[in-house]
Amino acid sequence: MRAMVLEAGRKELVARDFDAPRAGRGEIVLAVRACAVCRTDLHVVDGELDARRPLIPGHEIVGDVVERGEGARRFEVGARVGVGWLGRTCGACEHCTRGRENLCASPTFTGRDRDGGYAEFACVDERFAFALPERYDSLHAAPLLCAGAIGWRALRAAGDAERIGLWGFGASAHLVAQVARAEGRRVFAFTRPGDAAAAALARRLGCEWAGSSIELAPSELDAALIFAPVGELVPRALAQVARGGTVVCAGIHMSDLPSFPYSLLWGERCVRSIANLTRRDAEEFLTFAGDRSLAVEPVPYALADAQRALDDLRAGRVSGAAVLLP
Ligand SMILES: [Zn+2]
Ligand SMILES: [Zn+2]
Repeated sequence: MRAMVLEAGRKELVARDFDAPRAGRGEIVLAVRACAVCRTDLHVVDGELDARRPLIPGHEIVGDVVERGEGARRFEVGARVGVGWLGRTCGACEHCTRGRENLCASPTFTGRDRDGGYAEFACVDERFAFALPERYDSLHAAPLLCAGAIGWRALRAAGDAERIGLWGFGASAHLVAQVARAEGRRVFAFTRPGDAAAAALARRLGCEWAGSSIELAPSELDAALIFAPVGELVPRALAQVARGGTVVCAGIHMSDLPSFPYSLLWGERCVRSIANLTRRDAEEFLTFAGDRSLAVEPVPYALADAQRALDDLRAGRVSGAAVLLP
């Protein structure tokens, strides 16, 4: 099979040919139809996150089951399933046993600890695969698996906040904005200065205001969700959040947070992160997405162009979600 690989000592993907993986016990092999490109992949390739090398990245995989390993019976051969970042958990640690498998002490992440979906085939643990809503074709379903599901978890962390600010209007924010609107919330989008395409997309998806990340929203906010990996945005967001409001940092990596006056945090404002997600998060979100048509904005790339997709994401040239089509 053809795959895009991150080799030791390199920061660029290279195309390689391998034998297709075989399913072990409890595993399934997928013929990959689509794999969305997440900002986390960029952090892996750039060396900001530790990852196995050599590695096939990619953790928003949609594929057809082509082989089932011993004991794997959840999905029929031919079924279309999705796989996200959470590749396997221990099931026994204090977090797993308390419904917080996203914080598992010894997790396996797809496209970090085991090979992911930047390939023609991928092998996954069937317990961490999901049935997908049929109303989305594979190109449109792939971004739901991390961008959408992480956005969902971040929004849940904001509680019942009515006025939501989104910093970084990319793959996650364009989906969470629609969820928040469907829940009757008001949404304000902060985009990279000069990114007219992202601002236009935000308005089209129901945000009542879209401006640059250095502007002030026309209204105080009840919560801020930060998807951009920029620590400076934390005090900027805090300054616009009302008393009792929450700033949620949704990315896996962020530049250092600058110091800021305590008065920004005073008033029971809260800053928290979102770490990974549980299977329940993904199932809840996929159910929500299956009940209505979310406007997913994919930008398709050929598998061989994976590096170009990452470069475009880094440079802010992707409006919506980049998706590889093996
Ligand atoms: Zn665990
Ligand atoms: Zn991701």
